[in-house]
Formats: sequence, structure tokens, C-alpha cells
Amino acid sequence: MRFEISKVLDAIEGRVCTDPQLARAVLDLAEIIRYQDLDGGRPASTLRLGMVIDALARSMEEDSVQVYAVVHRGVLSDADLTSNERMVVRRWADDGLVEVLDNPGDRMLEVADLLGLPVLSRVRFDGLRGRFPWLVEQPGRAVAPVPGAGGPVFIAHVGGGHTPVAGPPSPAGAKLLARQWRCSESGCSLFGGGGGGAFADLARVDRAPSGQPPPSLRNGVPTCPRHGTRLGDGGPRPRSEVLAVRVGGLIRRRFVLTAEQPVMIGRAPDGSGGIVLGQWLNDEARRWISRSHLRLELRGGDVVATDVSTNGSGVRPGGSMAEADRIPLAPQQSRILGTGDMVELYPGVQVGRPGELPTGAPYNPDSVMAEAPTMAIRLPR
Ligand SMILES: [Zn+2]
Repeated sequence: MRFEISKVLDAIEGRVCTDPQLARAVLDLAEIIRYQDLDGGRPASTLRLGMVIDALARSMEEDSVQVYAVVHRGVLSDADLTSNERMVVRRWADDGLVEVLDNPGDRMLEVADLLGLPVLSRVRFDGLRGRFPWLVEQPGRAVAPVPGAGGPVFIAHVGGGHTPVAGPPSPAGAKLLARQWRCSESGCSLFGGGGGGAFADLARVDRAPSGQPPPSLRNGVPTCPRHGTRLGDGGPRPRSEVLAVRVGGLIRRRFVLTAEQPVMIGRAPDGSGGIVLGQWLNDEARRWISRSHLRLELRGGDVVATDVSTNGSGVRPGGSMAEADRIPLAPQQSRILGTGDMVELYPGVQVGRPGELPTGAPYNPDSVMAEAPTMAIRLPR
């Protein structure tokens, strides 16, 4: 059983991040793992994080949604977790996938404020509504994960709705995210690495500057939430684009395109960082789509798509699904993607900016808990 739980934790690992471009909600890991009423199991269990992530995916009707987890460092030594779970959370912390803090304080709400994300929490936040007015003014910005018939469901703190709602990043967040930041603490997993900055050689984690978390603002000063040190300004944050793969009407995965790192998409592209489509394709699509099918690059702010396949692709200008509008993209041909354009590798298999991908398929998401032993996710009746 331990082995299966390890596999679930590996799957969950792909769904936690501190990347402002990919995170879709904020939560406090220490709080979530103690929602004993979700499964009637142990006092603390990291599998509950998977249950809440699945609930978020169901609610957003999108696969592979990622969450921004803030957590008190006490979790790293929480005796109610197994040693394996503690080890995994420590690894997530070391890799900068979760934000481990000596004193999380209001950091969860600060992150939600700076990034415009919904908060998944049962805490009432009564004293904080003045500082974060969206808690009351925007129904759905704070939702409580509670037990439901087929797993956790959300109930909005205000208005009683069931869907987590994002807002705009706050003006302070927009300013902070326009720059890249450096922590003077060696090996900082949040603000080290990438960009070749003064401390890049000391960083354990090679984090792309475009994916840096939002600094904490303390008396208006950008501060490392982990180390409490004033952050150095590393210059403008490099440009990046969030793109998404849609298969069968459903966004399956979002990814970030940077100038440094082209992204290869295909049935099973070689190398790391590629987007593997094979798991979502039927037999005909598998035969049509090459192992490496499409290369995406960010050049001077333009998203450039190059077909590297055997059979070619098509571009749907402005997302138009009319066959007359489809522009063939022959093997080895490149094209700059205009606003709203999407590349179609095969009918129903598309790549584009996530806001512009058409929706409307019956929703049947993959569960992050697919490997979970049934004993571990026994649901209350
Ligand atoms: Zn730091």
C-alpha cells in the first residue's frame, strides 16, 4: 500500500507549484491535510491535497490544474504524517514547489491578492476583510472545501455558490510580477536560480525567472517570504506566454513558453520539458500525430509554431472552426500565431492561448488520485 501512496504523491507533485502563471488557487497545506471529514481516515493525510485538487479540476472543468500551497514548516516534522509523506513535502519545499514558512501569517491571502487567485480554505478570515475587500466583495474568491457525494465540493464563504472565482491581480501584484527578484540567502528555492543573477551559482533550484512566486510585501518592501530578507531587483521579468493543450474539448495541460526554452509537443517527444499527448489520444490520432509534432518558440514576443511532423498541422485563425478558414501548416513550415489563433495537430487536438480555446465538451477529467488505493480514499457516506 505504501508503494501506491508514493505513486499518488508523485502525481500530486505535478499539481503543486508557486508559478504565478500556472497556479489556479491558493491553499494552506497544513489546513487541508487535516480535513479528516473528507475521508474519515488518519488525523493528517497528504492524500487530501489530491482530493481537493481533483475537486478544483472538476469545478474548473480542466485537467492538470495546479495549486499554490503555503505551509508552516511544522508540517515537515508533523508526527501525524508518515515519514514518507514528510519526506515528500520536504522535497516539494526544497524544489520550491510549495512555500514553507516559519510564520505563514496572512501569506495565503497575500498570494491570492497579488495574483488574483481564489482561496480554498475553511478559515473565516473575519478580521482581514478590510485589508482584502475581495473576500466579501467577490463571491467565490474564498471557498471552503467540504465533503460531497463524489469527493470534496466547494462552498463560497460569501453568496453560497460552488465555484472558485479568480479576480484580477492587485495593482501591487502586477508591479511585483513585472520584475524579477533575488534573495541573498544562498540556495533560496523561491528567489534563487535562473536569469544568471548575482546569486544564480548558489541556487539549488534552476527556476525560470518568469515563474518566480510573488514577493511578500512588508511595509511596502519586496521581501522573501521564506527568509524575511529584502529582495534585490533583478530587472524586468522576461516575457513569457501561457499556452494550453486541448484534447477532445477539454484543456488537458497548461504550460509556459519562454524565450530560453522552446517547447516540443507530440505523441511522445524526446527530452525533458516536452508535452506528451499520447495518454489522451485515440488510435487514429496516435497514428496521425508524430512523436514530435510541433515546436513552439517565443521570438521577440511572438509565439512561433513550426510543424516538425510527418503529416502536418493546421492553423485555425482566431480559433475559427470553419473548415474554409483552416490554413494548412505543412511539415517544416513555421507561422507566427496571432491573437486567438490555434494550431490543430489533428481534429480535436489543439494548442493555443488558454483563454481563446473553445470549450463545450462533456467533462471527464483524469484524477490525480487514479493510483490511490481504495482504502486510502474511502469516502464518507
Ligand atoms: Zn529567500
